[in-house]
Amino acid sequence: MDLHWHRRDLRLADNLALAAADSPVLGVFVVDEGVHRHASPPRMAALLDALESLRGAYRERGSELIVRQGAPETVLPSLVDRLDGTTVTAAAEYSGLARRRDERVVERLEDVDAALATSHDAVLVPPGEITTNAGDPYSVFSYYAKKWHDRAAPDPASVPVDALAEPSAVPDLEPGPIPTLAALDFPAPEAAVPTVSTAAARERLREFVAEAIFRYEDRRDLPAEGGTSRLSPHLRFGTIGIREVTAATDEALERAETEAARESVLTFRDQLAWRDFYAEQLFHHPEMVRTNLTTFENPIEWERDDAAFAAWCAGETGYPIVDAGMRQLREEAWMHNRVRMIVASFLTKDLRIDWRRGYRWFREKLVDHDPGNDAGGWQWAASTGTDAQPFFRIFNPASQAETHDPDGEYVREYVPELRDAPTEVIHDWPTLETAERAAHAPAYPAPIVDHAAAREAALAMFRAARGEDR
Ligand SMILES: Cc1cc2nc3c(=O)[nH]c(=O)nc-3n(C[C@H](O)[C@H](O)[C@H](O)COP(=O)(O)OP(=O)(O)OC[C@H]3O[C@@H](n4cnc5c(N)ncnc54)[C@H](O)[C@@H]3O)c2cc1C
Repeated sequence: MDLHWHRRDLRLADNLALAAADSPVLGVFVVDEGVHRHASPPRMAALLDALESLRGAYRERGSELIVRQGAPETVLPSLVDRLDGTTVTAAAEYSGLARRRDERVVERLEDVDAALATSHDAVLVPPGEITTNAGDPYSVFSYYAKKWHDRAAPDPASVPVDALAEPSAVPDLEPGPIPTLAALDFPAPEAAVPTVSTAAARERLREFVAEAIFRYEDRRDLPAEGGTSRLSPHLRFGTIGIREVTAATDEALERAETEAARESVLTFRDQLAWRDFYAEQLFHHPEMVRTNLTTFENPIEWERDDAAFAAWCAGETGYPIVDAGMRQLREEAWMHNRVRMIVASFLTKDLRIDWRRGYRWFREKLVDHDPGNDAGGWQWAASTGTDAQPFFRIFNPASQAETHDPDGEYVREYVPELRDAPTEVIHDWPTLETAERAAHAPAYPAPIVDHAAAREAALAMFRAARGEDR
C-alpha cells in the first residue's frame, strides 16, 4: 500500500496525486519539528484545524489520515516499509527549506526501495513552463501574465472513489493523535484566526463568486469594503485546490452580464497569476526570502531604528492607515493587500528599515504567510525585486489613505482612538498642529516621521546604493 504525504495540500478534492493514484493509498501528515520551528501561533492553529478536517474527510470515506511526529526522513521510510509500499506521492513545494527536506526524504526512501513522486499541484502553471524566447524565467510580471492568461486552465482533478485505502488492511496501524498547540509548545494566537478547512474554503469561494467577484475591480483596493475573496489562508494550506477556484471563476465569466463584470473576473484571475509568478520566482530563487533579487553596486544602508520598528509593529506610527493595517494584522492574522503595500512601503521607504525585518514580522503574524508571496510582496515594495521597478516608487501614506479609505472607515474600524475624529482630521493627522491633535484624539500618537523629509532620505539611500551621487 502506498502513501500520500500531505504538506500544503490539506484536502482530498482537486488533489493531483490522489486523483492519479492507481492503487489505494493512505494519507499521512508528519508534524516535523524542522519545519514547524519556523511556524507561528496563527499558522500552527490553522494547520491543526485543517488537519482535523482532513482527517474527518478521510474517515467519511472509510479511510484514515495517519499523523506522526518526527523527521519525515525517518517517519516515512519506516511507514512505507510497514505498508510494503513503493511510492510516496506529494505536492511539490518550492522553498529552500522544503526542498532540502525532500532531498533527505528521497535519499532515505531509497534505503527501502521506495521513491518520492511529486506533482505541481499548488499552481496552475508549473514553474519553468512559461519562459522568455531565450528560455529564461520572466522577471517582469506583465510579460509572464500575458502568457499565463493565454493558457487554458486545467480542470479540477477528481479523486476516484477507490483511491483511498482502508486502514484495517494494515493490522495494528495507529492513526496517531493530532497534537494540540500547547503540546507543540505554541501559545494560543493573539489574533482571531479564521477557520481553515475545505468546507470553510468552499463556502468562502461560493459567496465570493456569487456576487463580489463582479465588483472586484472597483472594490479590491478599498480595504473597508471587504471586496476581496479572503481565500489566501485556504490557498496557503491547500484546503481548496487552485483548479477548483479557477473553475469557479470560469463559471463566473459565463454569468458576467456586463463587460465591466467580465473585466472584474479577469482582474481577479490576474491575482492568481501573481501567485504563480511568485511561486516561479521562489522555484528559481529560493534565496529570495533572505536576499535582494536586484543587485546594487553598494549595500543599501538601511536604518537600524528599533524604536521606529517597534512603533510600526504595534501600529503606533501616527500614520492612521499604516496603524490600522498593522492592528488588523494583529487582530485577524491577515491584512488587506492594498494596506500590505502601504505598510511595507512605509517601513522600507519612510523608516528606511530593511524589508527582511518586515518580512519576519509578517511571517510571524500572517495566517496566510507564504515564502514566495510574502518575500515577493516585500521586495516589490522595497524596490529590491526582480521587476526592477524604479527605486523612486515611494507611496505617500496620506494620499493612499485619501484614495483608498476616503471616509476613514477602515481606520476607524482598527484605530479606536480616532473613531470619533472627523475624516479630514484622520487624513491630515501627520501634518496637524500638536494642539489640534490633542483636541481631537489625545490618545493617538503623533507621527514618528515626516513623510516629505523621509522621501528625500530614501531617494538618497537608493542613489548611494546604486553608486550615484547623492
Ligand atoms: C508586503 C506583502 C506581503 C504579502 N504576503 C503574502 C503572503 O504571505 N501570502 C499571500 O498569500 N499573499 C501575500 N501577499 C499578497 C496579497 O496581499 C494577499 O495574497 C491578499 O491580500 C490575500 O487576500 P485575498 O485572499 O482576499 O486576496 P484576493 O484579492 O481575493 O486574491 C485571490 C488570491 O490571489 C493570490 N494573490 C492576490 N494578490 C497577490 C499578490 N500580490 N501576490 C501573490 N498572490 C496574490 C492570493 O492567493 C489570494 O488569496 C503579500 C503582499 C504584500 C504587498
